Amino acid sequence: MIAFFPELYPDELLYSAFARYFDKSGYGIYRAAAEDIYQNRLVNPDILFLNPITDDLRSILLKQKSWEDIITQHTMYPYYGRFLPPERRRRAFRSLVSMDFKHKDALQMPKDGKSNERYLRYCPLCCQQDRDIYGETYWHRLHQMHDIRICPNHGCYLVDSEILVRSKKSPGLYSAECSIRSMEVQINNNALEKKLSAYIAELFRREVADTDVLFHHFLHERIAGTKYTSPRGEQKNVTCYFHDFMEYYSGYRDNPIQELWQFKKTVDGKRYSLKEIAMVALFIGVTPEELAELEMPAELHQEAFDKQIKELHDQGLKYPQIAEITGASYDYCKVIGGGRLKKYNKGREVNKGGIKGMDWDQLDRELLPKVRAAVKIIRNDNGRPGRVTFRSVARHLNISEKRYPNLRLCRKEVEKNYETWEHYWAREMVFFYKKNKAEGKPVTVTALMKMTNARKRNLLRGVPHLELYTDSETAAAIRELMIE
Ligand SMILES: [Zn+2]
Repeated sequence: MIAFFPELYPDELLYSAFARYFDKSGYGIYRAAAEDIYQNRLVNPDILFLNPITDDLRSILLKQKSWEDIITQHTMYPYYGRFLPPERRRRAFRSLVSMDFKHKDALQMPKDGKSNERYLRYCPLCCQQDRDIYGETYWHRLHQMHDIRICPNHGCYLVDSEILVRSKKSPGLYSAECSIRSMEVQINNNALEKKLSAYIAELFRREVADTDVLFHHFLHERIAGTKYTSPRGEQKNVTCYFHDFMEYYSGYRDNPIQELWQFKKTVDGKRYSLKEIAMVALFIGVTPEELAELEMPAELHQEAFDKQIKELHDQGLKYPQIAEITGASYDYCKVIGGGRLKKYNKGREVNKGGIKGMDWDQLDRELLPKVRAAVKIIRNDNGRPGRVTFRSVARHLNISEKRYPNLRLCRKEVEKNYETWEHYWAREMVFFYKKNKAEGKPVTVTALMKMTNARKRNLLRGVPHLELYTDSETAAAIRELMIE
């Protein structure tokens, strides 16, 4: 029974509050405190996130904050979860809220080898400040972002404590107050590094938006029409983009992006590292608030661009002139200016100053039910699964993938149903496993590989997700089969 539990401090790791509880509880041994805190007193405390805690402790914490707020304000979730694809991000959050221990499958965590063991870190100046304000210090989340070396508030180097973030030794709870030794301050004089670290801290503190907008679409929209894209914004001029990015960060030695392919992966939304994304955003002048909100403009660059061509045409300019003004090709100006897209314009009000609203909006609305139907057919929940991607939907509808930037509703619909390979493989394994069982055929790894047409290592990536698509018994049977 917990008689007293300390108040959570701002930006404090939940683990830190548990450690403070242990210090103050008067228990001589860790086990006794662990019994109050954890459902399983033998568990190794998850320092950055949380382990299932007792109902008693949970109800005490809930008097301080909602459970959701505890996850977002007192674990590292906003750092490792923020820019994951929406479905994966939501899954990670759901796992943390329900404490089912599956959050690690979904979160993008750095690999932890012997060579890069991580320790809980602190800033000596923050520590001093805490002692002045609260009479004690605590473990701050902001100091545990693994790829940030300096304190975002003071610009000095963070110091490693002796507490391993992932210790395999006997479990324990170590408070900052009892673990912090050296108070030596080493100042970092790199203005850019300070700026970046403050930027990331500002982003980290903000709420994680529950949005379907993908960060790379958002970033792309911000550079659309600049020298980093084609005039209409569809194509990235990635070499030039990368070159300027590298020049901007030339004085920063901890740039994790060194090669063009790495940069490309980040700006194409295939890497989810918060630091890398923040670096790109800072470079192109996106504020931390904007990056946290990921709100797309009401009118996308391409819509505005097409509108301008149409307006210039309506004003009587010739296509070569329009092409020169806008930078678009002659052919494109011709299509937009008066030709092919007109049919979508039928019945719409046309103002003197140009068309009101875009053709794309109507097309978007017309296509949406078709996209929904296509998603359903492609997924095929009752038969052999298909994978929903931008490409597969576009193919099904016989439209070009390049249309998506203009079709906001359709794009969102596909994003919502987009399926990662891992999930797809999980679904396939379940389908073929059940099929063979029902038909009395043998179920082996080779048979599954053959039917799904996937390699074993790929299928293994799907294993953690099996339970999403079948009962736990079947999932366990497939897991056993695959992992044996
Ligand atoms: Zn500090």
